[in-house]
Amino acid sequence: MSFKSLGLSDALLKAISKKGYTEPSPIQEKVIPHVIKGKDVLASAQTGTGKTAGFTLPILQLLSNKPSTKKRFIRVLILTPTRELAAQILASVNDYGIYSNIKATVVFGGVNQNPQVKAIRNGIDVLVATPGRLLDLHNQKLLSLANVEILVLDEADRMLDMGFARDINKILALLPKKRQNLLFSATFSKEIKELAGKFLHHPVMVEATPENTTVEVIAQKVYRVDKGMKTKLLIKLISEGSWKQVLVFTRTKHGANKLSVKLQKAGITSAAIHGNKSQGARTQALAGFKKNKVRVLVATDIAARGLDIPLLPHVVNFELPNVAEDYVHRIGRTGRAGQSGEAISLVCIDEVSYLKGIERLIKQQIEKEILKGFEPEDIPSEKKKSGGRKPPRRKFGNSSGKSSGKSRNFKKKKKAS
Ligand code: AMP
Repeated sequence: MSFKSLGLSDALLKAISKKGYTEPSPIQEKVIPHVIKGKDVLASAQTGTGKTAGFTLPILQLLSNKPSTKKRFIRVLILTPTRELAAQILASVNDYGIYSNIKATVVFGGVNQNPQVKAIRNGIDVLVATPGRLLDLHNQKLLSLANVEILVLDEADRMLDMGFARDINKILALLPKKRQNLLFSATFSKEIKELAGKFLHHPVMVEATPENTTVEVIAQKVYRVDKGMKTKLLIKLISEGSWKQVLVFTRTKHGANKLSVKLQKAGITSAAIHGNKSQGARTQALAGFKKNKVRVLVATDIAARGLDIPLLPHVVNFELPNVAEDYVHRIGRTGRAGQSGEAISLVCIDEVSYLKGIERLIKQQIEKEILKGFEPEDIPSEKKKSGGRKPPRRKFGNSSGKSSGKSRNFKKKKKAS
Protein backbone atom coordinates (compact mmCIF):
# COMPACT_ATOMS: atom_id res chain seq x y z
CA MET A 1 0.00 0.00 0.00
CA SER A 2 1.23 3.51 -0.77
CA PHE A 3 0.73 6.74 1.15
CA LYS A 4 -0.94 8.14 -1.97
CA SER A 5 -3.67 5.50 -1.92
CA LEU A 6 -4.52 6.56 1.65
CA GLY A 7 -5.89 9.81 0.26
CA LEU A 8 -3.19 12.23 1.41
CA SER A 9 -2.55 15.53 -0.35
CA ASP A 10 0.48 16.26 -2.51
CA ALA A 11 1.85 18.61 0.19
CA LEU A 12 1.77 15.76 2.73
CA LEU A 13 3.17 13.22 0.26
CA LYS A 14 6.07 15.55 -0.42
CA ALA A 15 6.75 15.91 3.32
CA ILE A 16 6.56 12.12 3.80
CA SER A 17 9.01 11.59 1.00
CA LYS A 18 11.33 14.18 2.54
CA LYS A 19 11.31 12.11 5.75
CA GLY A 20 12.38 9.11 3.69
CA TYR A 21 9.33 6.92 4.32
CA THR A 22 8.45 4.67 1.41
CA GLU A 23 5.34 2.94 2.70
CA PRO A 24 2.90 3.35 5.57
CA SER A 25 3.40 1.31 8.73
CA PRO A 26 0.57 -1.10 9.66
CA ILE A 27 -0.93 1.34 12.17
CA GLN A 28 -0.82 4.15 9.61
CA GLU A 29 -2.53 1.97 7.00
CA LYS A 30 -5.32 1.15 9.40
CA VAL A 31 -5.84 4.48 11.13
CA ILE A 32 -5.40 7.11 8.41
CA PRO A 33 -8.48 6.27 6.27
CA HIS A 34 -10.82 6.29 9.30
CA VAL A 35 -9.51 9.60 10.59
CA ILE A 36 -9.87 11.19 7.15
CA LYS A 37 -13.50 9.99 7.13
CA GLY A 38 -14.06 11.87 10.39
CA LYS A 39 -14.52 8.79 12.56
CA ASP A 40 -13.57 8.45 16.22
CA VAL A 41 -10.73 5.94 16.63
CA LEU A 42 -9.55 3.80 19.52
CA ALA A 43 -6.11 2.52 18.57
CA SER A 44 -3.74 0.17 20.32
CA ALA A 45 -0.22 1.14 19.36
CA GLN A 46 3.09 1.40 21.11
CA THR A 47 5.79 3.95 20.54
CA GLY A 48 7.90 2.84 17.62
CA THR A 49 5.00 1.73 15.43
CA GLY A 50 4.72 5.05 13.60
CA LYS A 51 1.58 6.04 15.50
CA THR A 52 2.47 9.75 15.61
CA ALA A 53 2.31 10.01 11.83
CA GLY A 54 -0.76 7.75 12.05
CA PHE A 55 -2.75 10.54 13.64
CA THR A 56 -0.80 13.60 12.49
CA LEU A 57 -1.00 12.98 8.75
CA PRO A 58 -4.79 12.57 8.49
CA ILE A 59 -5.33 15.48 10.89
CA LEU A 60 -3.22 17.75 8.69
CA GLN A 61 -5.22 16.48 5.72
CA LEU A 62 -8.51 17.34 7.44
CA LEU A 63 -7.24 20.80 8.41
CA SER A 64 -6.19 21.63 4.87
CA ASN A 65 -9.51 20.32 3.47
CA LYS A 66 -11.16 23.10 5.46
CA PRO A 67 -8.55 25.87 5.73
CA SER A 68 -8.64 28.28 8.66
CA THR A 69 -10.22 31.68 8.38
CA LYS A 70 -7.93 34.69 8.67
CA LYS A 71 -7.77 34.41 12.42
CA ARG A 72 -6.42 31.09 13.61
CA PHE A 73 -8.08 29.19 16.46
CA ILE A 74 -6.92 26.00 18.16
CA ARG A 75 -8.68 23.39 16.00
CA VAL A 76 -6.69 20.36 17.11
CA LEU A 77 -5.65 19.49 20.66
CA ILE A 78 -3.13 16.69 21.17
CA LEU A 79 -2.74 15.64 24.80
CA THR A 80 0.26 13.61 25.81
CA PRO A 81 1.78 12.63 29.18
CA THR A 82 5.35 13.93 29.07
CA ARG A 83 7.21 17.02 27.99
CA GLU A 84 9.59 15.05 25.79
CA LEU A 85 6.76 13.32 23.98
CA ALA A 86 4.96 16.65 23.55
CA ALA A 87 8.05 18.24 22.02
CA GLN A 88 8.52 15.27 19.72
CA ILE A 89 4.92 15.34 18.53
CA LEU A 90 5.25 19.05 17.74
CA ALA A 91 8.40 18.27 15.74
CA SER A 92 6.43 15.64 13.79
CA VAL A 93 3.53 18.04 13.15
CA ASN A 94 6.02 20.60 11.84
CA ASP A 95 7.86 18.02 9.73
CA TYR A 96 4.73 16.56 8.14
CA GLY A 97 3.11 19.98 7.82
CA ILE A 98 6.13 21.66 6.25
CA TYR A 99 4.38 22.20 2.91
CA SER A 100 0.91 22.81 4.40
CA ASN A 101 -0.17 26.13 5.79
CA ILE A 102 -0.43 24.92 9.37
CA LYS A 103 0.71 26.57 12.57
CA ALA A 104 1.36 24.53 15.69
CA THR A 105 2.91 24.94 19.10
CA VAL A 106 3.48 23.04 22.31
CA VAL A 107 2.81 23.77 25.98
CA PHE A 108 4.23 21.84 28.93
CA GLY A 109 5.21 22.59 32.50
CA GLY A 110 8.60 23.16 34.05
CA VAL A 111 9.50 26.06 31.77
CA ASN A 112 8.51 29.72 31.53
CA GLN A 113 4.98 30.04 30.17
CA ASN A 114 5.48 33.39 28.40
CA PRO A 115 6.90 32.12 25.09
CA GLN A 116 4.11 29.51 25.02
CA VAL A 117 1.45 32.16 25.59
CA LYS A 118 2.96 34.36 22.89
CA ALA A 119 2.91 31.52 20.35
CA ILE A 120 -0.75 30.84 21.12
CA ARG A 121 -1.63 34.55 20.83
CA ASN A 122 -0.04 34.69 17.40
CA GLY A 123 -2.62 32.14 16.25
CA ILE A 124 -2.22 28.37 15.92
CA ASP A 125 -4.21 25.50 14.43
CA VAL A 126 -2.68 22.65 16.43
CA LEU A 127 -1.78 22.64 20.12
CA VAL A 128 0.25 19.81 21.63
CA ALA A 129 0.03 19.85 25.43
CA THR A 130 0.62 18.05 28.67
CA PRO A 131 -2.54 18.18 30.81
CA GLY A 132 -1.24 20.22 33.77
CA ARG A 133 0.15 23.21 31.88
CA LEU A 134 -2.85 23.24 29.54
CA LEU A 135 -5.28 23.57 32.46
CA ASP A 136 -3.01 26.11 34.09
CA LEU A 137 -3.06 28.35 31.01
CA HIS A 138 -6.78 27.85 30.58
CA ASN A 139 -7.44 28.82 34.20
CA GLN A 140 -5.48 32.02 33.57
CA LYS A 141 -7.72 32.59 30.53
CA LEU A 142 -4.68 32.59 28.27
CA LEU A 143 -6.17 30.18 25.76
CA SER A 144 -9.54 29.02 24.52
CA LEU A 145 -10.51 25.46 23.65
CA ALA A 146 -13.94 26.48 22.32
CA ASN A 147 -13.01 25.82 18.69
CA VAL A 148 -11.40 22.41 19.03
CA GLU A 149 -12.60 20.10 16.25
CA ILE A 150 -10.28 17.15 16.90
CA LEU A 151 -8.94 15.78 20.19
CA VAL A 152 -6.10 13.26 20.40
CA LEU A 153 -5.23 11.47 23.62
CA ASP A 154 -1.81 9.99 23.00
CA GLU A 155 -0.32 7.33 25.29
CA ALA A 156 -3.59 7.38 27.20
CA ASP A 157 -2.62 4.43 29.40
CA ARG A 158 0.48 6.25 30.56
CA MET A 159 -1.53 9.39 31.26
CA LEU A 160 -3.77 7.36 33.55
CA ASP A 161 -0.73 5.70 35.18
CA MET A 162 0.70 9.14 35.87
CA GLY A 163 -2.49 10.25 37.60
CA PHE A 164 -3.88 12.53 34.89
CA ALA A 165 -7.42 11.05 34.94
CA ARG A 166 -8.94 14.07 36.74
CA ASP A 167 -7.13 16.56 34.52
CA ILE A 168 -8.33 14.72 31.43
CA ASN A 169 -11.93 14.87 32.65
CA LYS A 170 -11.58 18.60 33.33
CA ILE A 171 -10.17 19.17 29.85
CA LEU A 172 -12.95 17.12 28.20
CA ALA A 173 -15.48 19.41 29.89
CA LEU A 174 -13.87 22.46 28.26
CA LEU A 175 -14.17 21.17 24.71
CA PRO A 176 -17.09 21.61 22.30
CA LYS A 177 -19.43 18.59 22.41
CA LYS A 178 -19.27 18.05 18.67
CA ARG A 179 -15.77 16.96 17.78
CA GLN A 180 -13.71 14.06 16.50
CA ASN A 181 -11.81 12.00 19.09
CA LEU A 182 -8.77 9.76 18.72
CA LEU A 183 -7.38 7.70 21.56
CA PHE A 184 -4.01 5.95 21.34
CA SER A 185 -2.88 3.55 24.03
CA ALA A 186 -0.29 0.79 24.25
CA THR A 187 -2.81 -1.40 26.06
CA PHE A 188 -6.59 -1.74 26.20
CA SER A 189 -6.95 -2.08 29.95
CA LYS A 190 -10.26 -1.87 31.81
CA GLU A 191 -9.48 1.77 32.70
CA ILE A 192 -8.75 2.66 29.09
CA LYS A 193 -12.00 1.05 27.95
CA GLU A 194 -13.87 3.03 30.61
CA LEU A 195 -12.22 6.27 29.53
CA ALA A 196 -12.92 5.49 25.88
CA GLY A 197 -16.57 4.75 26.70
CA LYS A 198 -16.88 8.21 28.23
CA PHE A 199 -16.01 10.30 25.23
CA LEU A 200 -15.55 8.30 22.03
CA HIS A 201 -18.59 8.05 19.73
CA HIS A 202 -18.94 4.69 17.95
CA PRO A 203 -15.16 4.41 17.67
CA VAL A 204 -13.42 2.26 15.11
CA MET A 205 -11.13 -0.10 17.03
CA VAL A 206 -7.70 -0.52 15.51
CA GLU A 207 -5.12 -2.96 16.78
CA ALA A 208 -2.24 -2.71 14.37
CA THR A 209 0.32 -4.61 16.37
CA PRO A 210 -1.49 -7.20 18.44
CA GLU A 211 -0.31 -6.46 21.92
CA ASN A 212 3.27 -7.39 22.71
CA THR A 213 4.22 -8.88 19.36
CA THR A 214 6.80 -6.16 18.75
CA VAL A 215 9.07 -7.92 21.23
CA GLU A 216 9.58 -10.65 18.65
CA VAL A 217 12.03 -8.58 16.60
CA ILE A 218 14.19 -7.89 19.63
CA ALA A 219 16.90 -10.27 20.81
CA GLN A 220 16.36 -10.59 24.55
CA LYS A 221 18.66 -12.03 27.13
CA VAL A 222 18.79 -12.31 30.90
CA TYR A 223 22.01 -12.38 32.89
CA ARG A 224 21.46 -13.83 36.33
CA VAL A 225 23.72 -11.96 38.75
CA ASP A 226 23.81 -10.79 42.35
CA LYS A 227 22.55 -7.30 43.03
CA GLY A 228 25.95 -6.07 44.24
CA MET A 229 27.68 -7.22 41.04
CA LYS A 230 25.32 -5.57 38.56
CA THR A 231 27.33 -2.37 38.02
CA LYS A 232 30.52 -4.35 37.40
CA LEU A 233 28.72 -6.61 34.92
CA LEU A 234 27.19 -3.64 33.11
CA ILE A 235 30.62 -2.01 32.77
CA LYS A 236 32.03 -5.28 31.41
CA LEU A 237 29.21 -5.64 28.86
CA ILE A 238 29.55 -2.03 27.68
CA SER A 239 33.34 -2.14 27.47
CA GLU A 240 33.84 -5.60 25.99
CA GLY A 241 30.90 -5.27 23.61
CA SER A 242 32.18 -1.79 22.58
CA TRP A 243 28.64 -0.49 22.92
CA LYS A 244 28.45 3.05 21.66
CA GLN A 245 24.91 3.94 22.67
CA VAL A 246 22.96 2.22 25.41
CA LEU A 247 19.82 3.09 27.29
CA VAL A 248 19.79 1.68 30.83
CA PHE A 249 16.67 1.48 32.96
CA THR A 250 16.60 1.67 36.73
CA ARG A 251 13.54 1.54 38.95
CA THR A 252 14.23 4.68 40.97
CA LYS A 253 15.46 8.22 40.34
CA HIS A 254 18.05 7.81 43.07
CA GLY A 255 19.24 4.54 41.48
CA ALA A 256 19.55 6.28 38.11
CA ASN A 257 21.76 9.02 39.57
CA LYS A 258 23.90 6.58 41.51
CA LEU A 259 24.51 4.32 38.54
CA SER A 260 25.30 7.23 36.25
CA VAL A 261 27.96 8.49 38.67
CA LYS A 262 29.50 5.00 38.98
CA LEU A 263 29.70 4.64 35.20
CA GLN A 264 31.38 8.01 34.91
CA LYS A 265 33.91 6.96 37.54
CA ALA A 266 34.63 3.91 35.38
CA GLY A 267 35.38 6.23 32.45
CA ILE A 268 32.09 5.68 30.60
CA THR A 269 30.28 8.90 29.64
CA SER A 270 26.82 8.80 31.12
CA ALA A 271 23.84 10.95 32.06
CA ALA A 272 20.72 10.30 34.13
CA ILE A 273 17.28 11.37 33.03
CA HIS A 274 14.28 11.32 35.36
CA GLY A 275 11.38 13.32 36.70
CA ASN A 276 13.44 15.29 39.23
CA LYS A 277 15.71 16.70 36.56
CA SER A 278 14.86 20.10 35.13
CA GLN A 279 13.59 20.28 31.60
CA GLY A 280 16.87 21.85 30.51
CA ALA A 281 18.93 19.05 32.06
CA ARG A 282 16.75 16.38 30.43
CA THR A 283 16.94 18.00 27.00
CA GLN A 284 20.69 18.39 27.33
CA ALA A 285 21.17 14.77 28.39
CA LEU A 286 19.04 13.52 25.52
CA ALA A 287 20.81 15.75 22.99
CA GLY A 288 24.22 14.53 24.18
CA PHE A 289 23.05 10.94 23.89
CA LYS A 290 21.66 11.43 20.38
CA LYS A 291 24.91 13.03 19.24
CA ASN A 292 26.92 10.15 20.72
CA LYS A 293 28.61 12.47 23.21
CA VAL A 294 27.05 10.50 26.04
CA ARG A 295 27.44 6.75 25.73
CA VAL A 296 24.97 5.67 28.40
CA LEU A 297 21.65 7.25 29.22
CA VAL A 298 20.28 6.00 32.54
CA ALA A 299 16.54 6.50 32.76
CA THR A 300 13.49 5.71 34.84
CA ASP A 301 10.34 4.46 33.10
CA ILE A 302 8.43 7.70 33.17
CA ALA A 303 11.34 9.82 31.97
CA ALA A 304 12.04 7.49 29.07
CA ARG A 305 8.46 7.40 27.90
CA GLY A 306 8.23 8.89 24.46
CA LEU A 307 11.92 9.43 23.89
CA ASP A 308 12.50 9.25 20.18
CA ILE A 309 15.89 7.68 19.71
CA PRO A 310 15.93 6.03 16.32
CA LEU A 311 17.74 2.73 15.84
CA LEU A 312 18.82 2.30 19.43
CA PRO A 313 21.06 -0.77 19.45
CA HIS A 314 21.06 -1.70 23.15
CA VAL A 315 18.64 -1.46 26.03
CA VAL A 316 19.58 -2.76 29.46
CA ASN A 317 17.22 -3.37 32.32
CA PHE A 318 19.56 -2.76 35.23
CA GLU A 319 16.54 -3.61 37.34
CA LEU A 320 13.40 -5.27 36.03
CA PRO A 321 10.22 -3.23 36.28
CA ASN A 322 7.64 -4.58 38.71
CA VAL A 323 4.89 -3.94 36.14
CA ALA A 324 5.40 -6.48 33.34
CA GLU A 325 3.95 -4.16 30.65
CA ASP A 326 6.74 -1.66 31.38
CA TYR A 327 9.24 -4.27 30.22
CA VAL A 328 7.58 -4.24 26.80
CA HIS A 329 7.65 -0.43 26.71
CA ARG A 330 11.29 -0.37 27.71
CA ILE A 331 12.55 -2.88 25.19
CA GLY A 332 10.41 -1.20 22.53
CA ARG A 333 13.13 1.48 22.55
CA THR A 334 15.31 -0.88 20.58
CA GLY A 335 14.58 -2.60 17.28
CA ARG A 336 12.71 0.45 16.04
CA ALA A 337 11.50 1.01 12.50
CA GLY A 338 12.24 -2.48 11.28
CA GLN A 339 15.73 -2.75 12.77
CA SER A 340 16.57 -5.51 15.19
CA GLY A 341 17.96 -4.61 18.58
CA GLU A 342 19.22 -6.20 21.76
CA ALA A 343 17.58 -6.00 25.16
CA ILE A 344 19.50 -7.29 28.15
CA SER A 345 18.19 -7.69 31.68
CA LEU A 346 20.35 -8.05 34.78
CA VAL A 347 18.29 -10.14 37.15
CA CYS A 348 19.02 -10.85 40.80
CA ILE A 349 17.19 -13.24 43.10
CA ASP A 350 14.67 -10.57 44.23
CA GLU A 351 13.55 -10.08 40.64
CA VAL A 352 12.98 -13.68 39.60
CA SER A 353 9.23 -13.38 40.23
CA TYR A 354 9.07 -10.22 38.05
CA LEU A 355 10.89 -12.14 35.33
CA LYS A 356 8.30 -14.92 35.48
CA GLY A 357 5.50 -12.33 35.15
CA ILE A 358 7.22 -10.80 32.12
CA GLU A 359 7.68 -14.18 30.45
CA ARG A 360 4.00 -14.95 31.00
CA LEU A 361 3.01 -11.61 29.45
CA ILE A 362 5.21 -11.88 26.38
CA LYS A 363 4.55 -15.62 26.06
CA GLN A 364 8.24 -16.32 25.64
CA GLN A 365 11.00 -17.83 27.71
CA ILE A 366 13.90 -15.37 27.67
CA GLU A 367 17.34 -16.90 27.16
CA LYS A 368 19.30 -16.92 30.42
CA GLU A 369 23.04 -16.89 30.93
CA ILE A 370 25.48 -16.64 33.81
CA LEU A 371 28.84 -15.11 33.06
CA LYS A 372 32.05 -16.46 34.56
CA GLY A 373 33.05 -14.39 37.55
CA PHE A 374 29.44 -13.18 38.02
CA GLU A 375 27.85 -16.38 39.34
CA PRO A 376 25.07 -15.48 41.77
CA GLU A 377 25.32 -16.85 45.30
CA ASP A 378 21.72 -18.04 45.24
CA ILE A 379 22.20 -20.66 42.52
CA PRO A 380 23.79 -23.97 43.66
CA SER A 381 27.11 -24.36 41.87
CA GLU A 382 26.19 -27.58 40.00
CA LYS A 383 23.35 -25.69 38.30
CA LYS A 384 25.60 -22.88 37.15
CA LYS A 385 26.14 -22.77 33.42
CA SER A 386 29.21 -20.62 33.06
CA GLY A 387 29.52 -18.53 29.97
CA GLY A 388 32.20 -15.93 29.56
CA ARG A 389 32.02 -16.06 25.80
CA LYS A 390 30.50 -13.31 23.74
CA PRO A 391 26.76 -14.08 23.50
CA PRO A 392 25.55 -15.00 20.01
CA ARG A 393 23.47 -12.27 18.47
CA ARG A 394 19.97 -13.46 17.77
CA LYS A 395 17.48 -11.54 15.76
CA PHE A 396 14.45 -13.11 17.29
CA GLY A 397 13.89 -13.62 20.95
CA ASN A 398 11.63 -16.65 21.17
CA SER A 399 12.69 -19.61 23.21
CA SER A 400 12.86 -22.05 20.32
CA GLY A 401 15.59 -19.97 18.75
CA LYS A 402 13.63 -20.09 15.51
CA SER A 403 12.69 -16.94 13.71
CA SER A 404 9.05 -16.07 14.15
CA GLY A 405 9.19 -14.75 10.62
CA LYS A 406 7.60 -11.52 11.78
CA SER A 407 9.17 -8.16 11.52
CA ARG A 408 7.90 -4.67 11.28
CA ASN A 409 7.10 -4.13 7.69
CA PHE A 410 7.77 -0.50 7.40
CA LYS A 411 10.88 0.65 5.75
CA LYS A 412 12.86 3.80 5.53
CA LYS A 413 14.50 4.71 2.26
CA LYS A 414 18.26 4.26 2.49
CA LYS A 415 19.88 7.63 2.04
CA ALA A 416 22.39 7.64 -0.80
CA SER A 417 25.79 8.29 0.64
P1 AMP B 1 6.38 6.70 16.59
O1 AMP B 1 5.80 5.34 16.87
O2 AMP B 1 5.36 7.64 16.10
O3 AMP B 1 7.18 7.21 17.76
O4 AMP B 1 7.41 6.54 15.36
C1 AMP B 1 8.56 5.74 15.46
C2 AMP B 1 9.62 6.07 14.44
O5 AMP B 1 9.24 5.57 13.16
C3 AMP B 1 9.88 7.56 14.25
O6 AMP B 1 11.29 7.73 14.27
C4 AMP B 1 9.31 7.89 12.89
O7 AMP B 1 10.06 8.90 12.26
C5 AMP B 1 9.43 6.57 12.16
N1 AMP B 1 8.36 6.35 11.15
C6 AMP B 1 7.05 6.69 11.24
N2 AMP B 1 6.37 6.29 10.14
C7 AMP B 1 7.27 5.67 9.33
C8 AMP B 1 7.16 5.04 8.04
N3 AMP B 1 6.01 4.95 7.39
N4 AMP B 1 8.29 4.53 7.52
C9 AMP B 1 9.47 4.59 8.20
N5 AMP B 1 9.63 5.16 9.41
C10 AMP B 1 8.54 5.70 9.98
